[in-house]
Amino acid sequence: MKDLTILPAIAAELPKIFEGRHLIDGVWSASVDAQTFERVSPSHGVVVSRSAKGGVRECEAAINAARRAFDTGVWSRTSGKDRATVLLRVAALIEANVDRIAVQETLESGKPITQSRGEVSGAADLWRYAASLARTMHGDSHNTLGDDMLGMVLKEPIGVVSIITPWNFPFWILSQKLPFALAAGCTVVVKPSEVTPSSTVMMGELLVEAGLPAGVCNIVLGFGAPVGSLMSTHKDVDMVTFTGSTVVGKKITQAASGTLKKVALELGGKNAQVIFPDADLEDAADAVVFGAYFNVGQCCNASSRIIVHEDIASSFVERVVALSRAVSFGDPLDPETQVGAIVTPDHNDKIDGYVKDAIAAGARLELGGHTLDVPGLGDQFYQPTILSNVSPDMPIARAEVFGPVLTVLTFRTLDEAIALTNDTSYGLSAGVWSENVHTCLEFARRAEAGTVWTNTWMDGYPELAFGGMKQSGQGREIGRYGFDEFLEVKSVVMRVGRTRAPWVKTREKSV
Ligand code: NAD
Repeated sequence: MKDLTILPAIAAELPKIFEGRHLIDGVWSASVDAQTFERVSPSHGVVVSRSAKGGVRECEAAINAARRAFDTGVWSRTSGKDRATVLLRVAALIEANVDRIAVQETLESGKPITQSRGEVSGAADLWRYAASLARTMHGDSHNTLGDDMLGMVLKEPIGVVSIITPWNFPFWILSQKLPFALAAGCTVVVKPSEVTPSSTVMMGELLVEAGLPAGVCNIVLGFGAPVGSLMSTHKDVDMVTFTGSTVVGKKITQAASGTLKKVALELGGKNAQVIFPDADLEDAADAVVFGAYFNVGQCCNASSRIIVHEDIASSFVERVVALSRAVSFGDPLDPETQVGAIVTPDHNDKIDGYVKDAIAAGARLELGGHTLDVPGLGDQFYQPTILSNVSPDMPIARAEVFGPVLTVLTFRTLDEAIALTNDTSYGLSAGVWSENVHTCLEFARRAEAGTVWTNTWMDGYPELAFGGMKQSGQGREIGRYGFDEFLEVKSVVMRVGRTRAPWVKTREKSV
């Protein structure tokens, strides 16, 4: 039996190196010290972008520009209608530029081109949805406080927002934050990951073309230190919204505490799909394979654990192994590819380390378990890997491996399945497969996760809140709840008529 489906490299002509600059106060600029950094494509081994390397000066200039733009009201005091008009223009521009952005994203991240296209075109809908919120946002009125009182609760933009994003879905995650912040009337400074900076620069180009006023969205390219850390500590920033690792999320929380700025965090996950014997097992196996290998498993929502009922465990694993063999991996520019390259050599080693340690600790290798040299492309690839006989205390069952690696645990009762699902410091997502609605509902209620899927995996909509419990984060993104994160709430209390009783009782004047 063939072990895996490896596609040969396609002879695609790579675009010329993308040159990225900062966008500060409406002006594209290099760094004052002219420093740059390069990104080598993990799949093709050549330099695919060169970016200005920001430092303290660029970051301060960007924060100052955002502060000024906010305080002058050039965006924050415009009507919802005007903001929505710009956001809708951006959505249309994204759709007109899907291919260009997707190719660059694939070259920098190593993800398959079909997944990059889906990410970019799907992001347009987030902008459209956010535009609808810009027009419909409102507070409350209280007309029941007494005859002489009227109360209003106003919603206002929180102010200057730092947006810090990771490398795994650079365009999508930016679009989970930026249009919502803009819809609320905030101004922003964005720092994309140093690994995948270019699609954020391309977004900046679209914002300028759409007519967003200068200073409303500023982009600084560079590294966690000093750019990300200054964005988390600067006194003129009112909020930081961060997506990335739990380790860095904790650092940002500490850094932001000095000025008590609001912090919203979308962090890691160790998400489980639970499979009951009465489930549609064909469908479940397909979703398990999708959940494990989508975006090369480098996905906060990856279902890196499956928890299978003992009675069906061996036959279900056989089914998943057979499907995994059919998943095609290879050149990310090939539209047939489903699993591409691992983002960096270090990360490839880290994944391999988890797998080797698990095998040494007694896990059984059902498939894969090695890095792989794809003919014509090099060795930054990892085979789709399945490990059974995994116990809940093994690091591979607890840590976010962030690669195409699936671990199998087993259960006998619903209580046991829920306990295993929740036996993690993370709480991002969880899934259950059963034809019994009571099983599904009980699981959904008791799973400690920001999203629970029943008989499906990883479907998401702009209308629904997204985020994690426990160490998967704080706050929510997208949907109305995500939008509210960018809003302050102010109560206005108004007396109607001259009815106020004086607090100081003045003595009657003597005649
Ligand atoms: P990372 O934490 O290493 O980096 C994320 C961003 O933070 C980058 O832009 C980086 O430059 C910046 N950064 C690094 N140190 C910083 C500091 N001290 N202060 C401020 N900024 C700093 O994460 P990554 O490796 O780019 O992304 C992978 C991680 O992201 C995984 O853990 C994954 O689960 C998580 N993730 C979570 C979600 C979610 O929505 N929950 C979505 C995607 C990715």
